[in-house]
Formats: sequence, C-alpha cells, structure tokens
Amino acid sequence: MLDIQKIRAEFPILSQTVNGKPLVYFDNGATSQKPQIVIDAIAKYYQEINANIHRGVHTLSQLATDAYEISRGKVQHHINAKFTHEVLFTSGTTHGINLVTNGFASILKPGDEVIVSSLEHHSNIVPWQMLCEKTGATLKVIPMNEDGELIMEAYEALLSEKTKVVTVNHISNALGIINPIKYMIEKAHAVGAAVLIDGAQAVPHLKPDVQDLDCDFYAFSGHKMCGPTGTGILYGKEVWLNKLPPYQGGGEMIKEVTFEKTTYADLPHKFEAGTPNIAGGIVLGTAIDYLNTVGFENIQKQEEELLAHATKRLLEIEGLKIYGTGKNKASVVSFNIDGIHPYDIGSIIDKLGIAVRTGHHCAQPIMNFFCIPGTIRASFSFYNTVEEIDLMVEAVKKAKTMLS
Ligand SMILES: *Cc1c(COP(=O)(O)O)cnc(C)c1O
Repeated sequence: MLDIQKIRAEFPILSQTVNGKPLVYFDNGATSQKPQIVIDAIAKYYQEINANIHRGVHTLSQLATDAYEISRGKVQHHINAKFTHEVLFTSGTTHGINLVTNGFASILKPGDEVIVSSLEHHSNIVPWQMLCEKTGATLKVIPMNEDGELIMEAYEALLSEKTKVVTVNHISNALGIINPIKYMIEKAHAVGAAVLIDGAQAVPHLKPDVQDLDCDFYAFSGHKMCGPTGTGILYGKEVWLNKLPPYQGGGEMIKEVTFEKTTYADLPHKFEAGTPNIAGGIVLGTAIDYLNTVGFENIQKQEEELLAHATKRLLEIEGLKIYGTGKNKASVVSFNIDGIHPYDIGSIIDKLGIAVRTGHHCAQPIMNFFCIPGTIRASFSFYNTVEEIDLMVEAVKKAKTMLS
C-alpha cells in the first residue's frame, strides 16, 4: 500500500491553501502536479550542465547531450520501444499528432479514408481534418454508445482497403473510458491501415507497451505525468518514421546542406529541428523514474479506490448524472446536476478550495452527443485521497443547495 501522506509531502503545491481552504486538486486530467524531485531536477540542469546539445565538443555540451539521450533511453525502456531512435522528443501530444498528420499529407490521396473516434480530444480531431482538407481524403468517425464506449461493430464496418489511418485515444480525457486499443489496432492492421494512439491520458495511469500493442505511433505529453510542461514524446515505428518526411526544417535535422539540396539526418534527429526543450526532455526522464518508484500497480490500486468512492458518493446526490458509465474506466468522473450549469458548480466549489474542470474538455463532439454544454470533471491522481473526495461531495451538495 502507498503511504499517501508521505507521497503528498513530496508535492509542495498540495499543502497550499486556495481561497483560504486547503487545496483539493482534482484537475489532474488537465495537468498533474510536480514532485519536488522534478522541480529540483529543472534547477539542477540550469545550475550544473546547461549547454546546447549534439553540437559542442566542450564538456558541458557533452554532459547535457548525455543527459538528454539517457532520458530518451529511459522513455524507450518505459514504453518498451524496440529502438531508441523510435522515440522522438516533442513539445507535447499536440505536437506529436501534428508531426504525423503533416507527414501523411504526402502519402494520402483523394478517396483514402482516415478513421477517428467520437471520443477524441480536439487535438486528435482538428489535425486530421486539416490533413483531409489538404489531401482530399475522407474523415470517418467511430460512433459511441450511451455509456461512452466506442461501438466496435460500427468500427469494423468502417474499415476497408480505403482506410489508411486509424486514430484513437487510449483513455478518453472527457469521460475516462479506456478504449480496447489492442483489438482496434489488430483490426486496422488487417486492412493495412496505420494506427496512431493518443496516449495523453493513459501515461499517468499505466505503462504502455508499444510493441505488445503493435501501434504505429503513440503520442503523449510530459506534463500530465508529473513532468514539465512543453515536453512530450512521439513514438513511431522505425519503418513509418523513415517513410514520413520531416515536420520542420532547421538546424540539427540535417546531414548536409547546400543551396541545391539538403539531406536529412538519421532518426530521431530528422524530426528534431532546432534547439529542443533540453531541460524538459531530461526532466521528463526524472518524472518517469519517479512514477516507476511509486509503482504503476500502486498507482492503479489507489486510483481504483478513488474512482469507486467518488462514483458511489456522487451518486448519493439527487439529480446527479455521471457521463462515461462504461466498465473500463480510469480515475475520471464527469458529471452534471439536473438543471444546473456545470460552470456555476465549478465556480462555487472553487471558492471552497476544490479544483475541477468544467466545460467541454476540448471534446465538443462528446458534449453534442449527450446534448449538454459541458460537464464537471473530477480527475484523480494517486496523490489524492478519499477524504478529499468527501470534501468535494460536500462542496457539490452545498453548491446544489445554493443554485436550486
Ligand atoms: C491533454 C490531451 C491532449 C493534448 O495534450 P497537450 O499536452 O495539450 O498537447 C490530447 N489528447 C488527450 C486525450 C489529452 O488529454
């Protein structure tokens, strides 16, 4: 069992008061808080080894390069990628997805099809729409049911030899539903389509195994998994990364430049133009080490308990409806109370120190499906407690009384 109080003490922000109340941070789906070891590692980089990477012969540059590449190796090991050069540093999930859609612009033809799911975050919808506009390909959408689960029969009916790419999130940010991605990847591969998994909401809760999943791309952000903002990873299978053209041109991504012709650097550098977020990339490795020290089994156990407790306690409130009632769920509860706007509840409970997200959660199609303007989303991390959930439930009850 986790010693939650000891873990909480590692996160300085959690001992703050907000509006005169102890902070209850339930907006982990938007970004996670950072442990002291991550905060310290950022300062340590700038204090001790700050230099540009992959270019200098001098000692600091070597140290910084080594630290950056060690971090890449940690990520490779963490997600079980076959090669280190299949791990690209990005600024986040959004960057990773755009890198892939940009690459497919030179591959897709009119009549080709791209399949997205109805559970996607805007950052896994809009880049694909832009790609389809550019190439004349058609966007198809996997529908979902009332429980917020993707309908597999409908998905399989959409697949054909026209399908070139399938993209789906591992875990839905708005509802917390865990999608059957391994099955979906297998079905997509059977028609020869490539698959991108948006893992932004999965990596805080589990350790993805990209070889076991057999996905072609897996994108995630560092900031939702205790790492710094402006960091992320795009995993891509070697064969695909070799096939796709570079995303941005610039320094660091070339082999040789003349005005007649430029040849590109080998992987992963072909996709890493310019000076990256060096400190962030290194410290993402620190965050991954930290999560592995806590242990994903422990994380999942704690989060399952939080999810079960929150679901049970919230449903005691009359008129409260939870969205995303599918069986396979991460520690996210998205809900509304009859006749009350989610924003009003969010604002009142903020006065009571409770941070939740209200609104469409960058997933407007899901809100349209349920015919609602948005939800109140409480997303839990392993550092949250059952007592905090009780505080939230009391606060929501109070807000309901004030607003009814
Ligand atoms: C947060 C999130 C994104 C976007 O991540 P950024 O860090 O903003 O690039 C994409 N997809 C899902 C499912 C998310 O939760």
